[in-house]
Amino acid sequence: MAGEEKPKTTISVIKADIGSIAGHHKVHPDTMAAAARVLSEAKRKGIIIDFYVTHVGDDLELIMTHRKGVDSPEIHGLAWEAFKKAAQVAKELGLYAAGQDLLSEAFSGNVRGLGPGVAEMEIVERPSEPIVVFMADKTEPGAFNLPLFRIFADPFNTAGLVIDPKLHGGFKFEVFDVFESRKVVLKCPEEMYDLLALIGTTGRYIIRRVYRKSDDEIAAVVSVERLNLIAGRYVGKDDPVAIVRAQSGFPALGEILEAFAFPHLVAGWMRGSHFGPLMPVGLRDAKCTRFDGPPRLVGLGFQVSKGRLIGPVDLFDDPAFDETRRMAQLVADYMRRHGPFMPHRLGPDEMEYTTLPQVLEKLKNRFVKEELPYHIKKRVSEMLEAGSE
Ligand SMILES: [Mg+2]
Repeated sequence: MAGEEKPKTTISVIKADIGSIAGHHKVHPDTMAAAARVLSEAKRKGIIIDFYVTHVGDDLELIMTHRKGVDSPEIHGLAWEAFKKAAQVAKELGLYAAGQDLLSEAFSGNVRGLGPGVAEMEIVERPSEPIVVFMADKTEPGAFNLPLFRIFADPFNTAGLVIDPKLHGGFKFEVFDVFESRKVVLKCPEEMYDLLALIGTTGRYIIRRVYRKSDDEIAAVVSVERLNLIAGRYVGKDDPVAIVRAQSGFPALGEILEAFAFPHLVAGWMRGSHFGPLMPVGLRDAKCTRFDGPPRLVGLGFQVSKGRLIGPVDLFDDPAFDETRRMAQLVADYMRRHGPFMPHRLGPDEMEYTTLPQVLEKLKNRFVKEELPYHIKKRVSEMLEAGSE
């Protein structure tokens, strides 16, 4: 029996901002080359089967395949080494924020919590295994809540939920509460309203994994590292990555991409402190300019075959998304006109993890307390008395 078991393939997408050129703009090609050298050597030694190094804006992205499962100390150690080597080059070149996301000097077996973002899934490859790797810059993991809901639970996006018997049973969503470090699994369609009640709060409840309900097969995974919470202070945007499986029992590639045709508002953008539209772009436009944005998303399609990464195809490099990008720019204009006002700027809860509290601290002693008028004080004390009875 054991001999008949198919080998499992793990896809690991690990990213970090290790420094960029001319501000938080774009990864330098020399740092990508440094990371690729480390992974190339690991491929030669058989530690990983295949890899692809790329970037989105100021984030260096390592896409790797191997047989070592998720959270493998060896694979995480490899990614850490690649980032360290890339950060050395970044420091040598004097790049901006060199080493920004590497929060610890020492690696302790797992990159989670040390700064880099991680999305990993272990699968038994189907005869044909198409996947999409999504990588965003200038936003947070909750940015994937809306599109993942639409891909796996909204028949107005994914026709297959209605007409394909393999999708008709629906999907399960694992939602992670980043503040309390706890999770809940909700089924769709039957618990759709409960799911939406949570995931509409994108800064807290994040869709971390999606499973096919009929057999618990993994369909999608999202990185949920939140740098600002990890470090206890603002150290950068927790730009997320995600892996989504396509076709044959999962939504079609086009149904997956369709969810990004609407450039929804996400938190991030300038200083991680503003709402702006998520703009899907091809790799050549995977850089942040206007007000350090607008937040950008790249989608690379691969076939995973015997662990090899066949591809990629640059999925948003397509005029079919021109109107989405145009709308994103109109929305960017509209939001920018609010300047430092909400709802362009994030609300006070989210701003707690930015540099704003340092500014407010300065004003703390300038506030002068005002006495409440007598009739209001009387009413308040009456209410308090009534409440205590
Ligand atoms: Mg970034």
